Amino acid sequence: MSRPLKLYNTLTRSKEVFEPIDPGNVRLYVCGPTVYDYAHIGNARPVIVFDVLYRLLRHRYGADHVVYARNITDVDDKINARAARDFPDLPLNDAIGKVTEATERQFHEDVAALGCLPPDQEPRATNHIVEMVAIIERLVARGLAYVAEDNVLFSPVAMDNYPGAPRYGSLARRSLDEMIAGARVDVAPYKRDPMDFVLWKPSKPNEPGWPSPCGIVPLGRPGWHIECSAMSMAKLLTPFGGGLACDDPTKNIFDIHGGGIDLVFPHHENEIAQSCCAFNTTRMANVWMHNGFLQVEGEKMSKSLGNFVTIRDLLETGKFGDSTWPGDVLRLAMLRTHYRQPIDWTVKELERALKDLREWYGLIATEASSHGTIDRGILEALFDDLNTHGALVRVHELAKTGDRAALSASLTFLGFSCNPTSLTRRLYESVMDGIRASDKAVATEKADGTHFEDSSTQKRVDELIASRQAARAAKNFAEADKIRDQLADLGVVLKESKDGTTWEFKR
Ligand code: AMP
Ligand code: ZN
Repeated sequence: MSRPLKLYNTLTRSKEVFEPIDPGNVRLYVCGPTVYDYAHIGNARPVIVFDVLYRLLRHRYGADHVVYARNITDVDDKINARAARDFPDLPLNDAIGKVTEATERQFHEDVAALGCLPPDQEPRATNHIVEMVAIIERLVARGLAYVAEDNVLFSPVAMDNYPGAPRYGSLARRSLDEMIAGARVDVAPYKRDPMDFVLWKPSKPNEPGWPSPCGIVPLGRPGWHIECSAMSMAKLLTPFGGGLACDDPTKNIFDIHGGGIDLVFPHHENEIAQSCCAFNTTRMANVWMHNGFLQVEGEKMSKSLGNFVTIRDLLETGKFGDSTWPGDVLRLAMLRTHYRQPIDWTVKELERALKDLREWYGLIATEASSHGTIDRGILEALFDDLNTHGALVRVHELAKTGDRAALSASLTFLGFSCNPTSLTRRLYESVMDGIRASDKAVATEKADGTHFEDSSTQKRVDELIASRQAARAAKNFAEADKIRDQLADLGVVLKESKDGTTWEFKR
């Protein structure tokens, strides 16, 4: 009998044993990025956390029995503003296409570098406008939404009188008064009630627009919340006539819905309102999971504080701690804290993660992960509400006991590349840059006779080789091996021959 999987459910505020609706088709939806700018390291947290959950579900139910859908929000006012700013000479729709395509590509590259598997389904909002319109028309027909000045608004008050629907606010557990105060709701004059939220709004002539629901004449565009109701329906629920999920409540619930804690209200509360009222269910998803927030060096991350860090900054530009960081290091630093706790993103933690990975990858360098089995203690920790912190404590133990095969299989399962050169890649590139610069300088020196100093990297490598030879001559083989490892960290491979030691960079 395998151990039950327990997950903390925001709906019930408790850890529950997870029972899929259909073990042959376990369905997970996570709110994805709005594509207008590089994703920041806070955005990476849900992607990494739910990647671990996805891997765990695949392990338990089989890779072919799990569907993970994560959307791309490619229609949004922030996208329009960015497109107009960056491409002022292009027609707005062309500019938007450039912004969303480039940002989506960057996002894919970034999260792949963090070891995240691509989701099975990645719907883009603009491909599901038809479903959004169909849901909106159904909600209006049922008296849960209304048209006002070419907008369509959802009425939480009407929902509270709709038979079978959950109470509005049951996920956030807030009273209507608190929600009004907390949501900083836009009190447009045409709203019947301040809590009413937008399902559809008219577009200005130059903005992207689609034929509107309910006979509204101007072209329009969806509100953010309806996008996720439509895309989760399109990808995870049983299709029925007219592009809508059927009205059978037993078929219109999926298993797990995830996102960051800031999405509980209003985004997820509103998704629930729309979906439950449109599909006659008491729940949209059975389990709601939310990751805690990330702050940087003890402070809320914000552009105005100058501590705003993108995934790309960390991977490539060296803006954080004056160094670039391999994706595996970022993944380890993220998983060291339990997903529901707040996380403090610090240079010190990244350094610790790099040190640990160097040690672990050093141990498993010769081990193929296929030879080992995933450690049971690691699985047990993960089955207990994704306790990645506990799992990583266990990884340390494995490293100590020297079970290299289990260490390798477990790290692979946790999504780490297990490729030692991934930890030296950036260093290798900067070393190569140094050498290319020195080659160029030598060439220049030859051409114009100017003075040139040897590349400091070459000097360092030569020094290390000389110290290693000295250690070997003194029969201090432990020291010689240590120096060889240091050289390996620099991406240097030694070649011994009867003429002495030469070296080259590992390609
Ligand atoms: P957004 O693009 O703001 O909608 O965010 C995309 C995802 O990242 C959502 O699931 C957010 O909850 C999550 N998120 C945004 N900022 C942070 C942060 N600082 N820490 C953790 N998660 C975040
Ligand atoms: Zn969403």
